[in-house]
Amino acid sequence: LYDALADLAALAIERIQLVDDLDRARMAAEADRLRSALLTSVSHDLRTPLAGIKGAAGTLRDYYTAMPEADRNDLLQTIEQETDRLSRFIGNLLDMTRIETGLTEPNAALVDIDEIIGATLTRARPVLEGHKVRVSVLPDLPMLRLDPVLTEQVLFNLLDNAAKYAPHGSEIGLDAWRDGGAVVLQLRDEGPGIPPRDTERIFDMFYRVRKLDHVQAGTGLGLAICRGFTEAMGGTITAANRRDRSGAVFTIRFPVPVAETQKTEEET
Ligand code: ADP
Repeated sequence: LYDALADLAALAIERIQLVDDLDRARMAAEADRLRSALLTSVSHDLRTPLAGIKGAAGTLRDYYTAMPEADRNDLLQTIEQETDRLSRFIGNLLDMTRIETGLTEPNAALVDIDEIIGATLTRARPVLEGHKVRVSVLPDLPMLRLDPVLTEQVLFNLLDNAAKYAPHGSEIGLDAWRDGGAVVLQLRDEGPGIPPRDTERIFDMFYRVRKLDHVQAGTGLGLAICRGFTEAMGGTITAANRRDRSGAVFTIRFPVPVAETQKTEEET
């Protein structure tokens, strides 16, 4: 993990150093700021769950026999949840480093997006519990040249966020259709939406919308990974707000490979 962090910081700095010599002093200050933002965020995200685990373990050790079973179970659940959170965070961080250092070269193959959506929904079932999920994938979508693992990760992160930020019992919509030379995937939720000035920044590493910070623990890496993976596969991803009600909309566009475009033209 430490190496991954060092790599990330070095990369940020290297990128900054590529810029014009004249700007060097300003950029050096920016590099410092970046490095310390990275460290603050990472140490906070590692410390908080660790403190929770340590606290729960200590209480269990000291009061194990005197404690009602329900309380014991609560503490064990805390340990489990915080461990999950830690491993999610470390996983995200490693994914991010892999993209940044170019280690994750998309393993592209012609894939059926409908199948990827199905597989992601199965994997996300535990996260989506308590939400209504409405899926509409138009038939006969062309095959796409994508890395199925990365694509699943992108969709999973978006579903995970929708479930995290939108209230229990609300509806999450996932649509897929063709729009000219692209296949569009769109996720809608009924949560608070995203402040208009933040619709681009939420894709930055470690950026979180402040007023939501206390609502849900997160890493601020999920969407940076979505964008990194999507762009590595030649696609785009953007965020917006719903017009009909409150809620966020995430739109992904993947290009239809030329051979597939010709095939559909021949068929019609
Ligand atoms: P995390 O969820 O771990 O904080 P992300 O990179 O996935 O990190 O998201 C960055 C920020 O974007 C979140 O902290 C949240 O403020 C905002 N966000 C993401 N998805 C949604 C959503 N579906 N509805 C509202 N806000 C969202």
